[in-house]
Amino acid sequence: MTTNAATPSPNFIRQIIAEDLKANKNNGRVVTRFPPEPNGYLHIGHAKSICLNFTLAAENQGVCHLRFDDTNPTKEEVEYVESIKEDVRWLGFDWGDKLFFASDYFEQLYQYAGHLIKDGKAYVCSLTPAEIRQYRGTLTEPGKDSPYRSRPVAENLDLFTRMRAGEFPDGAHVLRAKIDMASPNVNMRDPVLYRILKASHHRTGDQWCLYPMYDYAHPLSDAIEGITHSICTLEFEDHRPLYDWILDQLPVPGHPQQIEFARLNLSYTVMSKRKLLKLVNDSQVSGWDDPRMPTIAGMRRRGYPPAAIRHFCERIGVGRRENVVDLALLEYCVREDLNKHAPRVMAVLRPLKVTIINYPEDKVEELDAVNNPEDPAMGTRQVPFSRVLYIERDDFLEDPPKKFYRLAPGREVRLRYAYFIKCVEVVKDAATGEVVELKCTYDPETRGGYAPDGRQVKATLHWVSAAHTCPAEVRLYDRLLTKPDPEEDKDADFMAFVNPNSLEVLKSCRLEPGLAGAAPGSLYQFERQGYFCVDDKDSASGALVFNRTVTLKDPWAKIQKAGQK
Ligand code: ATP
Ligand code: MG
Repeated sequence: MTTNAATPSPNFIRQIIAEDLKANKNNGRVVTRFPPEPNGYLHIGHAKSICLNFTLAAENQGVCHLRFDDTNPTKEEVEYVESIKEDVRWLGFDWGDKLFFASDYFEQLYQYAGHLIKDGKAYVCSLTPAEIRQYRGTLTEPGKDSPYRSRPVAENLDLFTRMRAGEFPDGAHVLRAKIDMASPNVNMRDPVLYRILKASHHRTGDQWCLYPMYDYAHPLSDAIEGITHSICTLEFEDHRPLYDWILDQLPVPGHPQQIEFARLNLSYTVMSKRKLLKLVNDSQVSGWDDPRMPTIAGMRRRGYPPAAIRHFCERIGVGRRENVVDLALLEYCVREDLNKHAPRVMAVLRPLKVTIINYPEDKVEELDAVNNPEDPAMGTRQVPFSRVLYIERDDFLEDPPKKFYRLAPGREVRLRYAYFIKCVEVVKDAATGEVVELKCTYDPETRGGYAPDGRQVKATLHWVSAAHTCPAEVRLYDRLLTKPDPEEDKDADFMAFVNPNSLEVLKSCRLEPGLAGAAPGSLYQFERQGYFCVDDKDSASGALVFNRTVTLKDPWAKIQKAGQK
């Protein structure tokens, strides 16, 4: 495994496992699993679960299974299975030969159901779905027994066999566990175990028209695979009695322990796959891998390094209390990684032409530039300098306010790695009044960016030489949602919080010539602007497209400082 996350911090699940090992429970084995339903792409919340399950196994010389919980054929697709495998691998984890599908257990699960029926622990119920709901009662009122609850075993077996044979339409009957309609836990009020669904499954085709429910398939899949610690999110806490009940009734090879932890919630982010699918289907984003999506595929395309995501997951820890993690912390982890590894380059996103009037027409100098001041081993490169340059449009103001220290008429600034320049004339478009060019002079004595007479300037600008640039499109992203806690009100329509300005496309950017042919996925710091990644989808045609991975501003550092005061 390639994990290089921070030193493991103690958490309650690590403690449980350590104690189990000490007591030689499960003969000292640790087997965990990550059990996604292939009904969408994985998101950053899944990353927390993946890191947790794979890391716990690896720390204890155990194994972690990848198991697809594919029990709902109407929502599941092969595309999702493939994307999930790719995402887990990309995050740096390896399930070896432990790849499983709940659908591989359909026959075994069916046999177990027969066992329950024979023991009088399950019955075929012919109430309609609406009636079943009505009979279930509420949190404050007990449920009522179904009139089919006392069906004789032989009749249940016959009906169940015929359900499998396809004799009945969808919804005609279900198989229910016979537990307790008066239980204070509604999950124990004779939960449905099987439903008829005349739907093709992406793996079993039309072999089945009877599909197990998640709450039935999950504990049994865990037991069949010899899982020791079945780790899931807190909303399954109330399902644990059912998990245990099912395993207690059946001759299963083992009884895994279900342990719940608090799911990851991130500010400005929705995580339910249903909602993410809506964003895709409504064309609010370009797809599941749109760089604004909180999916692993989106984050990969945006340039988030897998190590940064793993580090983030380790940092947020594992607890039992629901909270909302600040998106700034994730961005901090990304920045921290890229600061060390991404080479710095100069890129002008909104070019403004600058002519150095006292620089010779045909001269080109190669100037030394540092690739990463954080890492001298990354060395230096040369960037060409000539008479006509581009600087960032935002770096000039004709009538600068007090705290604007960058270029202005009559003012001198430093060009990074180059010279001091001074603006001597502003050229405007006669019709629109827009500034189209600056005429400047340079001081040849300041080569490298320092004046021998010790005079100082207040700003250092990035630039590129006009005749030596590499053109590119750059996509700037802002938060996809405008509300800090979009899931606060569960009934609110989150689509109302979609940020209409989450994408800004800049088509005429000019980069250092060295970036021509940059490999898809490669990451750079554009000096003063942020970290950027070559888009691996849209750059293919030869034209470079960059995604802004993250800005340089670090709100997280500020938040932490404020917290220390
Ligand atoms: P969603 O509700 O986002 O659609 P899900 O829980 O239905 O997700 P599954 O495919 O069933 O998605 O999840 C696979 C595993 O990932 C489960 O063990 C689940 O508990 C875990 N998981 C899902 N969301 C989160 C989250 N936000 N934080 C931590 N773990 C999560
Ligand atoms: Mg689920």
